Amino acid sequence: MQAMFKKVRRPCPICMGDTGDVLHHQRFVIPDRYRLPDSYDVVSCKRCGFVYADTPARQEDYDRYYKECSIYEDVELASGGGATEWDARRLDRTAADIERILSDKNAAIVDLGCANGGLLMALKDRGFLNVTGIDPSPTCVAHVGNQGIRCFVGGLFANEPNWFSAIGGPFDCVILCHVLEHVLDLKTALENVMQLVKTNGILYIEVPNASRYADCPVAPYYYFDCEHINHFEGISMSNLLGQYGCRPIESREKEIQVSDSVAYPAVYCAFVKTDRRLIFIAPVPDLKSRQSILAHIEISYRGSGTKTLEDLARNQTEIIVWGAGSHTLRLLGNTPLGKCNIAGFVDKDSKKQGLKIMDIPVRSPAFLRSFTGPVVICSALHSQEILRELRGMECKNEAIVL
Ligand SMILES: [Zn+2]
Repeated sequence: MQAMFKKVRRPCPICMGDTGDVLHHQRFVIPDRYRLPDSYDVVSCKRCGFVYADTPARQEDYDRYYKECSIYEDVELASGGGATEWDARRLDRTAADIERILSDKNAAIVDLGCANGGLLMALKDRGFLNVTGIDPSPTCVAHVGNQGIRCFVGGLFANEPNWFSAIGGPFDCVILCHVLEHVLDLKTALENVMQLVKTNGILYIEVPNASRYADCPVAPYYYFDCEHINHFEGISMSNLLGQYGCRPIESREKEIQVSDSVAYPAVYCAFVKTDRRLIFIAPVPDLKSRQSILAHIEISYRGSGTKTLEDLARNQTEIIVWGAGSHTLRLLGNTPLGKCNIAGFVDKDSKKQGLKIMDIPVRSPAFLRSFTGPVVICSALHSQEILRELRGMECKNEAIVL
């Protein structure tokens, strides 16, 4: 592919480079309440290769989005709480990885972005006595507190002036598990994180592994959504943390279960915070992620379902779309689904019910009882569960799985 360089709106979050190679333009349809931009370029930094979303959004747009629209609050539907068997297994494995690095069971540990506290429970089960959770969602914090774990409302930005002493910082170990891929302003976020870690303390960071996206395609354009705007792997993570005096001690690739039928690639990196001041280290170019992401774009472009959607759009058959999440928003922006005659969206997540997508309301699946046309099932992770549920409702509608 010919490189197409441009001056970026968002400087490279690793090396602050201002020129990027545009790999893909990702469009979305955005529900009315989200107030996030409806497209961005996926770019690779000319200087260090890091791949990220060159989005016009600001950090405060994301702060508001996560505060108002948290998808991690629903104890049964969201991951991070350990409510399902696959999620509990994933969290126990992460706790085992942390246990290998951190032998002191009295160490003060904080999980930043703890959602419903599943990882904290798994650490407690392994004998760690001093665990604390922090999450921006008051609902999540209350849920974790009810399980007997210290938990505070807070995040990576703009905390109250005496917040730091209230939470009991600094800590021997700070965990950022599937957090940094969501952060627009990584510089401020990491400056704040560093204050939470003691000198010689440990930072455990786990993120999706961009260098292996092509091996786990999941669904067309799956890895580009409104939330995942940084595409790390081990090299770029070390490039970033090295600037804050953090020395890598361990990095491993893994696969994590994100629904009962889908796994995706992740990587964790553990660092020791040294007492060196902030220094700039010349980045080691990350070329593997760029190659893997280009392959993912190519696979997505050839992806399945396009023919079916073209037929539905041409015939203007009235359909209901089951699924109002990221997968639907991507397909509405990038495929003929956006031109179909959609009578309604349905979704089990109560947070999504009441939203409007393209002025069409999102309702509960009970709405299907009054509809006889085809149901287009549109969920990257849960399509088989939705299909079973539809059949369980004894609806006779034709089901089309995208
Ligand atoms: Zn860069």
